Amino acid sequence: MFFEKTLDKRSKKVMIDFVTGHYRYNTMNSWNRSTSYAHNIKLHKLGLTSEQLNAAYDMLQTDFWDEIDQPIADFTSEMSGRYTIGTNGRSSGYLVLYNSKYELTGHKSHCRTCGQRNYRYVYTPDATAEGVITAAVIARDYTIGNRCGACGAEGEYGRVNYTLPPKRLSVYPGKSIDQNEEFSEWSMSELRNHVELVRRFDQACDEIRDNFIELIRSCKVVEEVVMIPKTVKRIECCHAS
Ligand SMILES: [Zn+2]
Repeated sequence: MFFEKTLDKRSKKVMIDFVTGHYRYNTMNSWNRSTSYAHNIKLHKLGLTSEQLNAAYDMLQTDFWDEIDQPIADFTSEMSGRYTIGTNGRSSGYLVLYNSKYELTGHKSHCRTCGQRNYRYVYTPDATAEGVITAAVIARDYTIGNRCGACGAEGEYGRVNYTLPPKRLSVYPGKSIDQNEEFSEWSMSELRNHVELVRRFDQACDEIRDNFIELIRSCKVVEEVVMIPKTVKRIECCHAS
């Protein structure tokens, strides 16, 4: 436990001190003045040994983030999408707790061949079985046939309606969390739940830090020259032979 703290949740004062004393950072820019619970994850704040620090600076030159950010997805899904964690600050040196929400993307069908999503349903004969679909609705919300506009696949390889409508996570970076909150008016159970949320955030930040340390322990950065295919324009003349 590096960021996470143990505390006595029987004491209202201890819990209030914990949430009000927690490190905070801007959710957007400093001029926006919204802040939320945060942790500074700049390398010199991670409690690394000098040997780890050298490896960490090497790692910083690579796209390593995707290798270690799984705890954010776990946290977000545990919170049913109501909270998530993002990075903020110059060089993304801070992990910040954000308000978020799952929202429907509005897509109704998708292609089984290329995955392309579509905002219309595929019309099937049983769509009218309920007797509520009028010709106007069909014209507006449905396509006749299931040909994919992107790859042209149809029939059993073409578009099919979603059983579960797809969702995406919308993050609200402008919203502050608990800024100027009067915790003394909260009930013990409200406070406990809230402390658990913040501690779960701290725990996720610890997991990210652990992942990073494991990454620099077990992997090293190697340099290689890559050949990048490039499209160029050249002149081709049709000379009479
Ligand atoms: Zn397709």
